[in-house]
Amino acid sequence: MITVGRYLVTGGAGFIGSHLCEALLAHQCEVICVDNFLTGRSENIRPLLRNPNFELLEHDIIEPIRISGALAGIFHLASPASPVDYAKFPIETLRVGALGTDNVLQLARQTGCKILVSSTSEVYGDPLEHPQKETYWGNVNPIGPRGCYDESKRYLEALTMAYRRVHGVRTCIIRIFNTYGPRMRSDDGRVVPNFCIQALKGQALTVFGDGTQTRSFCYIDDLIDGILRMFMADDPGPVNLGNPSELPILEFAKRIIAFSGRKLDISYLALPEDDPKTRCPDITKAATLVGWKPKVGLEQGLKKTMEYFQARLQQENRAS
Ligand code: NAD
Ligand code: UDP
Repeated sequence: MITVGRYLVTGGAGFIGSHLCEALLAHQCEVICVDNFLTGRSENIRPLLRNPNFELLEHDIIEPIRISGALAGIFHLASPASPVDYAKFPIETLRVGALGTDNVLQLARQTGCKILVSSTSEVYGDPLEHPQKETYWGNVNPIGPRGCYDESKRYLEALTMAYRRVHGVRTCIIRIFNTYGPRMRSDDGRVVPNFCIQALKGQALTVFGDGTQTRSFCYIDDLIDGILRMFMADDPGPVNLGNPSELPILEFAKRIIAFSGRKLDISYLALPEDDPKTRCPDITKAATLVGWKPKVGLEQGLKKTMEYFQARLQQENRAS
């Protein structure tokens, strides 16, 4: 599906990035993974280091990147992504979206290759339109705790369009909605790792607010399929990639409890400031452009994710 060639993946040691590197290698491509390990982990890419087509470049992309030789494309994924991570690293988040994106767009311009940049559903903020279409401009609080991430990604989108208009760089913007699966960090604070770990440890699940806020969860394999399809498409985006099956967080907690087969409590904690009340992608554009729609259901995806976290907990227990 993807043209065989040499690709650069920023944020390649992260959750999504490591799955993308793996998929590119499976398509016989060469991969240069660039990461500074701010929120990523070496374990995510350790098995890939044995592959002669894989190269790791430990580098902070807020500094210019020099790559010798041709590139078939760049996938720009580097950025803290979980609310807990970007609250911890707000300046790094703004810098990677601004300076990091500028550096990779310059690299795409110099090498003449196409670049796909990862934006997010957070550009819609706490949306007043539902479900969210790409035409919606969003409802973002620039000075709230999520502003560092939301505005970093809105700037990434604006800068990408400027390079396209001024320098003719071939670009594609994707807006990723909540994605989950193996290799998420158990301490990244997102709802999927939190609930999975709590269920596996027999603890109460922590629902923030009253749990009426909604999200929809896309399994990682579906997202990677969408990313590769969009890279090959001749469209600048932005394009939403996410699973449109929406559910309230309280309902999600109940599904995880049922799935775990245990009797677990729910403990209600304060809702974080500016937490979006609803979120659900309209994926008509991706479906029309590249025939993409998610295939993995929540039960099937959660099974694989729970198995992953179970194995990690066992590893941690053995190590302690
Ligand atoms: P992640 O934290 O697991 O991965 C991000 C990677 O980027 C990490 O390996 C980190 O070390 C690296 N990184 C951060 N700053 C860097 C820098 N300055 N230089 C080099 N590397 C740097 O997060 P993820 O969930 O895999 O997200 C990947 C991308 O997808 C992000 O751009 C994120 O905004 C976007 N996204 C993810 C989701 C999701 O649900 N996972 C949703 C929307 C958007
Ligand atoms: N959430 C929760 N309990 C948790 C972690 C998160 O109820 O332990 C809620 C959070 O308030 C939000 C939703 O789950 O409404 C998704 O949160 P996450 O951090 O995964 O990502 P977000 O969609 O907010 O970027």
